[in-house]
Amino acid sequence: MDRQLYLQNLEKLKTNGKTVIELYNEISTLALECGLSNAAKPAAKNAYYLSMEFLIGRSFFNNLMELGVLEETRDVLAKKGIDINIFEEIEDAALGNGGLGRLAACFLDSAAGLGLPLHGYGIRYKYGLFKQAIKNGFQVELPDDWQRFSDPWSIRRENEKRIIKFADMVVTAVPYDMPVFGKRVNNLRLWQAEGSEKAQKISEYLYPADDTEEGKLLRLRQEYFFSAAAVGELLDKHVKQYGKNFDKFAEFNAIQLNDTHPVLAIAEFIRLLTAEHKVGFDDALNIAKKTFSYTNHTVLPEALECWGDGLVKKILPDIYTVLIKLHLRQKEELVKLKCTPEEVADMAIYSSERFSMANLALFIGHTVNGVAKLHTEILKASLFKTAYKYYPDKFQNKTNGITQRRWLMLCNRELSALIDKTIGSDWREDISKLSELNGHISDIADEFIKVKAEKKKQLFDYIKEQEGAELPNGFLVYSQVKRLHEYKRQLMTALAILEIYKGLKDGTVTDFQPSVFLFGAKSAPAYRRAKAIIKFINEIAKKVNSDAQTNGLLRVVFVHNYNVSYAEKIVAGTDVSLQVSTAGLEASGTGNMKFMMNGAVTCGTMDGANIEIVELAGKENNYIFGAEVDEIERLKKDGYDPKELLKANGLHNFAVSALIDGTFSDDGTGCFKELYDALTVGASWHKPDNYFVLHDLESFVNSLLKINADSKDAKAFAVKQLKNTANSAHFSSDRTISEYAKDIWKI
Ligand SMILES: *Cc1c(COP(=O)(O)O)cnc(C)c1O
Repeated sequence: MDRQLYLQNLEKLKTNGKTVIELYNEISTLALECGLSNAAKPAAKNAYYLSMEFLIGRSFFNNLMELGVLEETRDVLAKKGIDINIFEEIEDAALGNGGLGRLAACFLDSAAGLGLPLHGYGIRYKYGLFKQAIKNGFQVELPDDWQRFSDPWSIRRENEKRIIKFADMVVTAVPYDMPVFGKRVNNLRLWQAEGSEKAQKISEYLYPADDTEEGKLLRLRQEYFFSAAAVGELLDKHVKQYGKNFDKFAEFNAIQLNDTHPVLAIAEFIRLLTAEHKVGFDDALNIAKKTFSYTNHTVLPEALECWGDGLVKKILPDIYTVLIKLHLRQKEELVKLKCTPEEVADMAIYSSERFSMANLALFIGHTVNGVAKLHTEILKASLFKTAYKYYPDKFQNKTNGITQRRWLMLCNRELSALIDKTIGSDWREDISKLSELNGHISDIADEFIKVKAEKKKQLFDYIKEQEGAELPNGFLVYSQVKRLHEYKRQLMTALAILEIYKGLKDGTVTDFQPSVFLFGAKSAPAYRRAKAIIKFINEIAKKVNSDAQTNGLLRVVFVHNYNVSYAEKIVAGTDVSLQVSTAGLEASGTGNMKFMMNGAVTCGTMDGANIEIVELAGKENNYIFGAEVDEIERLKKDGYDPKELLKANGLHNFAVSALIDGTFSDDGTGCFKELYDALTVGASWHKPDNYFVLHDLESFVNSLLKINADSKDAKAFAVKQLKNTANSAHFSSDRTISEYAKDIWKI
């Protein structure tokens, strides 16, 4: 980075009369040009991260920080009478739904930070994840036109566009490059679909659901579109540099498939090698097996991509042929391995007229990884049990991580400064050094309390501005922010709040430290029950916040439009991180890591990375409750009757009845009755209380109250919180990426 030049130009920049957007574009362009001035020389071997989602957030502050000019920019602008925080008006680039997309963004950040050649490939959606408004307590979806601020951090590469062919149309894929700054400058290449009106539709919207059947055709087109553009480009580059010697392709390229969405890349790779480059099928297969690896992100079977044969044959006939060939070849291989017919069926790429992207990835991928220790064990023991039996060496664990640059240094300058003061600033270069904090925890507890109070004040100011809700200083902050899904059990938190509220009113809960429960969550637009939970939380908030008898002690706020930028404020200002998924269902979680790093205690179940969090920070410094995986399995097997529980527990009965006894209004939609039925008699294809909300509710409430009581000893509680920060280095995505680089990509 040519910092001198940047700063000179920034000093010279005329700011009078310019709008925030104009300034944003001019400063970003200056920084981008200087940042690109020392682009790294190309690496011998590169890794490529294919992901349908990159949940980048706001680039402005983060890029200036990575380029080492954030503080100077702040100062220069201040001299010109401009507060750098005006750029918080710039919309996030929300090209992802949640954890999976945010992970991809953290990985790119860490690779650049470590100087490792990892590049991203994805889609440049015109509209990102919808913007959420709350109207009368209900979620309303509004289009997210993030490019209306223009997009100064992207560079259109007109002359590197590619043609992508479907049976019924031809689409032009135009690349936009977003440089990723760090020790080296890597690249995120997002493809935009151009051509006919129908062609443009492919990159118009981020597919908004993690879990529905809607819009299958468009989604298939999206997945093929960017996967084909990526592997097509990589093969062409290889030919240009090394000729048609494809045996060496895997020596120079590693391709990571982020979940099942980009798995068609394998079929396209083999199609291109065999049809365009005249490589034999066996050779092409072997090259693919050395090139691709696959990350699984979920054990929910409905989220594993499958494609109907009719659909594939209709719009991608050549891919259909390749998939059938792969299926037949796989069958031969499995017969040689002496698999039983059931096992063959279980692993089949093609069965019941559908192609399984997971099974294709398991067959071709040289490595398959889960994203937390427990998750990987579950993959081996259940979801991919058969594949594990025959290909045990393919399986690895890579526990997720988060970048400490955005999620500590940028979002919590105050805590970062306290860490600098205590152990020096080496941890900023080598995150493992953060553990040196362990030797100083009680010395800095008082200062930490001040930092936390300051971050809380900033958060409350922001909430006041965004939501209009005024929160009194000094409240303990419990936060549950993440996508809304039944397995994440926001409903359980809502019911727990009702029980605490009742306890405060009737005097059974005493000596309660004033607390606020923050929620932030978007629901998939078609996910009715999730949307009902949002309404329910908002109804509870209305009642609790307006109750003069208790609102000095208890508040509830549902923040609207939860996104990366909101998350940056919430993780820094929270005391208690709520991570309460049904054991076995949250693959890893990364929100949990952000909170831990910023000094929040976790109140959670033994699920996902929570297990590793308490392993490292100490069970005594966190609050674990609820059924563990083996108990959930047993309950599923032996049967579980939530009605019995409701009969026996008056408090639970009170809270659950509030859904139907007129306490709250769902505006005549019947959606609360549906929630009630889901909990008590089952709804759709689910069993009653499919996610064991009522089973874990009592121990959850007890944990919440125990935390509340423990927080009264402010210093002892701050020590617990600091223990979490001090032991969070393991959850840096620098660690995760180093492991991928060494164990999978060999870069
Ligand atoms: C980190 C993050 C997530 C993932 O949160 P989980 O609690 O792991 O599900 C989702 N959305 C945003 C905006 C995030 O920053």
